[in-house]
Amino acid sequence: MKTERSEKLFKEAVKMIPGGVNSPVRAFGSVGMTPRFIASAEGAYMTDADGNRYLDYVGSWGPMILGHANEMVLEKVAEACKKGLSFGAATEAEVDMARLICDMVPSIEMVRMVNSGTEAVMSAVRAARGYTGRNKIIKFEGCYHGHSDAMLVKAGSGVMTAGVPDSSGVPAGATEDTLLAVYNDLAGVEKLFDSWGKEIAAVIVEPVGANMGVVPPKEGFLKGLRKLCTENGSLLIFDEVITGFRLAKAGAQEYFDVQSDLTTYGKIIGGGMPVGAYGGRKEVMEVVSPVGKVYQAGTLSGNPVAMAAGLAQLQYLNGHPEVYAHLNALGEMLYGGMEKMCKDLQLPYQVNHVGSLGSLFFTDQPVVDYTSAKTSDTKKFAEYFRYMLENGVYIAASQFEAMFISDAHTDEEIQHTLNIMHNYFEK
Ligand SMILES: *Cc1c(COP(=O)(O)O)cnc(C)c1O
Repeated sequence: MKTERSEKLFKEAVKMIPGGVNSPVRAFGSVGMTPRFIASAEGAYMTDADGNRYLDYVGSWGPMILGHANEMVLEKVAEACKKGLSFGAATEAEVDMARLICDMVPSIEMVRMVNSGTEAVMSAVRAARGYTGRNKIIKFEGCYHGHSDAMLVKAGSGVMTAGVPDSSGVPAGATEDTLLAVYNDLAGVEKLFDSWGKEIAAVIVEPVGANMGVVPPKEGFLKGLRKLCTENGSLLIFDEVITGFRLAKAGAQEYFDVQSDLTTYGKIIGGGMPVGAYGGRKEVMEVVSPVGKVYQAGTLSGNPVAMAAGLAQLQYLNGHPEVYAHLNALGEMLYGGMEKMCKDLQLPYQVNHVGSLGSLFFTDQPVVDYTSAKTSDTKKFAEYFRYMLENGVYIAASQFEAMFISDAHTDEEIQHTLNIMHNYFEK
């Protein structure tokens, strides 16, 4: 595989961009490589600057759920572009977007658009604090909720891959109200409520852990959190930046039948454009400015081009429930196939998966939380990653990221992927 152009670009990039990348998860350092620079993408495939073609299981970390360069989405974006890129004023597309989100997600009566998942979480937490008049937040080890100060404690994939538990540059004061709990450990959360009860504004959780590799919630975990929040007058925030519009129309809350008070979105909601959103019950969302006293703003929030992309994708998902059946079937085929492969070849590894999200962990221990995820052999992962990439299968360059399947993937491509994995593990 020729990689001259990517390597040349990377040499240039590192001189001017920290680590040569604009988001750390794009670096290939942890797998001992330099990143491939992507030139274009279509359907389930990406092509790099040297012309190598990859079957893609990153999907821009989730947004490209209909596949890359979806014709219908591109058309809507082109149409919007011709009308002007930004007005800094209210537009009809924002009303359409809000209506669609409220239609698709029963727990949401009001929604505010922002520009990233980070912003969505930061704003939802502020709204929860404003609404409850409390300061403490419970977050789980290994869950990622964007890079705002208060959320950067044991924050999952990016920082895990870098080998540091927490970010430097975050003052202790910024995280002193962030209480840490263990994913899937309801008793631990109960203890925190016993100690802090009426000071806890919210519990924030990824309803499927997807930033320490994929870690599904145990039976009763999410329902238990719901109950504890209700009993203590705290809000339950589902961070559905990954699971939203992926596991089902209404995301994980539909898939697991548990309602959150506030929900945060990013990734899929923008159809590939930088978009985030947070929403929930009307009485909670009405604490947000200019109705209420919680200030939150954004010059480019609800941007017309971004809305066009997000709307086109969400409208398609809303009108085509068969997409979810397809995604889940492909997930079953890929991850089920991986489970079978591990069994047949007597590999002691773990395959965790929910719907179209899945991870192969290089450990013989069941992965149920941050501590067990970290028992994975990242050297073995790196070797596996290199083989997959060299054979044209692009997965995230970290043990602690999910694989993302899109609607553009086919049975043949999943089988091809399984064959390559099989070839690797057989040798
Ligand atoms: C990606 C992610 C975020 C942050 O979103 P950005 O758009 O990268 O700021 C927040 N929460 C979860 C669960 C995520 O996966």
